[in-house]
Amino acid sequence: MSIAERLAAVEARVRAASTAADRPADDVAILLAVKTQPVGAVLDALLAGATILGHNRAQELVAGAAGLADAPAHEMHFIGHLQSNKVNQVLRHAGCVQTVDSARLADRLDRATARRRADGEAAGPLAVFVQVNTSGEEAKHGVRPEQAADLAATVGAADNLHLRGLMTVGAHSPDVGLVRASYERLTAVRDTLLAGGAPGTADARELSMGMSGDLEVAIAAGATMVRVGTAVFGQRPTG
Ligand SMILES: *Cc1c(COP(=O)(O)O)cnc(C)c1O
Repeated sequence: MSIAERLAAVEARVRAASTAADRPADDVAILLAVKTQPVGAVLDALLAGATILGHNRAQELVAGAAGLADAPAHEMHFIGHLQSNKVNQVLRHAGCVQTVDSARLADRLDRATARRRADGEAAGPLAVFVQVNTSGEEAKHGVRPEQAADLAATVGAADNLHLRGLMTVGAHSPDVGLVRASYERLTAVRDTLLAGGAPGTADARELSMGMSGDLEVAIAAGATMVRVGTAVFGQRPTG
């Protein structure tokens, strides 16, 4: 199958899952996780109608950006662990950071965006998501669910950040019950956050969760954006 055909198949899965969950068919956005895909594959996906890309690594984001200069319009999100010393590099190419997991990183992003706005390089605040570790797995990044509201309030108070929602990487388990529980946890954290009414958090409705293997589970739990890699691009080149 071509990339266009695989993207169409993923779009059909997302529509079917949304309908099954009694949600509008166009309720859920699809972000393509680019990983190590060659720029030609990414271009194929954009030409086939993809509109949101996500990169995990600053180097790959920067290296890939040049090849997409003439590509159809798209949003670029950062979805990997972001080290403070890579913030400036990432902000040159990404309009949204989904992986804010500390007040320190939020502060770096706020100050870097302030500078970019002063220099005319950014038109407004940076869109961000707070990353929550909903599985309790040690290896995963993100704040604990009970810390999410505090970090969200810190982000909400930052002049140059616009909190759009929460992001999680679900439990890595063959037990679908565990995966579902981690996604439902993110939805519960979001609902508590919105009910709390802290300044700057009223727009934090998005739930970025679900991948190729479990997007139906995530959509049933309330995902508004799924992040898909292998289902569109095939297995990643190893290494
Ligand atoms: C790679 C990646 C995805 C996509 O995973 P697939 O299983 O390839 O669909 C989603 N989110 C993050 C953070 C990723 O790194």
